[in-house]
Amino acid sequence: MAFLRLLARNRLALVGGVMLSLVVLLALVTPLLPLAPPNVTATGDRFLPPFSEGALLGTDHLGRDLLSRLLWGTRLSLAVGFAAAIVAATLGAAIGIIAGFYGGRTDNVIMRGVDMLMAFPYILLALAIVAALGPGLFNALIAVAAVNVPFFARNIRGITVGIAHKEFVDAARLSGMSNARIILTEILPNVIPVIVIAMSTTIGWMILETAGLSFLGLGSQPPVADLGSMLGEARSALITNPHTSVVPGVMILIIVMSINLLGDGIRDALDPRLKSGALSRPMAATRVDRQGAVPAATGAGLLEVRGLETQFHVKDRVYRAVGGVDLAVKPGECLGIIGESGSGKSVTALSVMGLVASPPGIVTGGAAYYDGDDLIGAPYARLRAMRGRNVAYIFQDPQATLHPLYRVGDQLIEAMQVHQPVSNSAARAKALALLRDVRIPNAEQRLSDYPHEMSGGMRQRVGIAMALANDPEVIIADEPTTALDVTVQAQVLSLLDDLRRSRGLAIVFITHDFGVVAQLCDRVAVMYAGRIVEEGTTREILEMPRHPYTARLMACVPELGQGKRKLASIPGLPPVVDRLPPGCAFADRCPKAQPVCREGDIPLDGEGMRRVRCLFPETGLREVAE
Ligand code: ADP
Ligand code: MG
Repeated sequence: MAFLRLLARNRLALVGGVMLSLVVLLALVTPLLPLAPPNVTATGDRFLPPFSEGALLGTDHLGRDLLSRLLWGTRLSLAVGFAAAIVAATLGAAIGIIAGFYGGRTDNVIMRGVDMLMAFPYILLALAIVAALGPGLFNALIAVAAVNVPFFARNIRGITVGIAHKEFVDAARLSGMSNARIILTEILPNVIPVIVIAMSTTIGWMILETAGLSFLGLGSQPPVADLGSMLGEARSALITNPHTSVVPGVMILIIVMSINLLGDGIRDALDPRLKSGALSRPMAATRVDRQGAVPAATGAGLLEVRGLETQFHVKDRVYRAVGGVDLAVKPGECLGIIGESGSGKSVTALSVMGLVASPPGIVTGGAAYYDGDDLIGAPYARLRAMRGRNVAYIFQDPQATLHPLYRVGDQLIEAMQVHQPVSNSAARAKALALLRDVRIPNAEQRLSDYPHEMSGGMRQRVGIAMALANDPEVIIADEPTTALDVTVQAQVLSLLDDLRRSRGLAIVFITHDFGVVAQLCDRVAVMYAGRIVEEGTTREILEMPRHPYTARLMACVPELGQGKRKLASIPGLPPVVDRLPPGCAFADRCPKAQPVCREGDIPLDGEGMRRVRCLFPETGLREVAE
């Protein structure tokens, strides 16, 4: 199981797990061990030191064998601790789910009750409960469980409120499920990990609390002892015969520590966000492990990518997301990269500045030259200085790239101050000018807006403003207009086009939309399965696509005002990049494919900048079969 493997990778959790298993195992086999009876007194043998004959850990003030009492006491303490945790978790989760799911008055009444319970100091509350019920281990269990219910209720309610308003719950409601069924089948599976996490991190605490009550004489009653009451009984001999306190004390320490270590490990391993990263945080820059020679710069552009290969190593699979890509942009030029979703466009763009998450990403070959300097494998300090300063990115989803809790003006100012020593007022003036540049109306007021107070189009323009904040020479725009409607898209495109002309920006524009390419780009590279399959000027490609893939991709674009036409689609799916076929990756979907297409590597062939990776390129104007 992946969960266990993740857990085992966390060394501290593993240690905790092993220690706890040993303790639990000991507690389980205690009745089978040849131990002295734990509760039989022998006053003649009082306070025997450890390693005495017949008493490995010595004896206590009544001459009882400490080892035997320790093991039996551990058994009790563990049982009570776990039982209390399960009771508290079950009750607390039930209360939390009901409060969170029904909301409104139910929520209010329940949670105010929980708040009242929480307002008591918990030890006082536990003491009051035991005082009311009478001393005894079972009542201590009830008290410890009761004081921990609010903790679970609060936690689970918070999670449930978040889930209860999700679309899949609405969908379940619309499909006519009863509330009880929704809670059981939709909500519960989503909160169980949280319950387990909360439990694993509080069991240790509950064992301590039970021990505390027993220590005060309110838990287990003599002659039966748990770890807490053993400590309590040893208190008077703490100085004269410390071993009587040390023995149960060390056991409590071992139990609580191992449970906490294991609990932390469980929490980490259950967190889905940590799963894919295998518990390691991504590195600051993509890992580079280049095999073979690094291609030299040719000076073809300000930014020049040569033979770039980026892979994802996930378990024993290797995903070749980018398999040898060459690109170049000059100042003032716009290069379009086009291709279906998953063709490796984003990974190519992110690799340039070392922004691909590692693990699992690794750059395994090639180079990315900025003004003649190779950025792949450049020291992190250099990459950081260049990110945003020389090469800036615009991403598809501004909602995800803007910080939700800061005003957009402050974020713009921060973006500048990271790279340049500008005063607050100067940065503010520049931020204002930038917002005006990207044509945000009322720029002055908008500076103090939060991202959620803006429309999607405005946020995207803020994203562009932020990319421009440090006057970069290259902008890499990764589908910046895909989430926008056509009018806003047109504005954003003309904005980028103006900036490119007025500031001499080099733009790499990633998209899957030929209409956008036609409006903005000078040249186009078509990507498929991690490689460029065709490149040329926008005009050449649009008028006469030569790779069957490009031709078919263009045939899929509906045209306005051309009358009704059967809409084409490309049969089949792009190949999975961990099992790329030899030869042409498009062969399986290509009607013109011949056996030779599947044999060897097919080069990107042609003159100058007009090249195609195909043995049988299209020849006529739009002669794609419908
Ligand atoms: P797009 O062209 O749509 O931008 P991407 O560059 O995002 O495509 O992805 C290219 C390929 O890399 C896809 O097949 C994708 O599944 C794979 N990929 C991207 N990120 C990861 C990752 N973290 N782990 C494994 N594979 C990934
Ligand atoms: Mg993408």
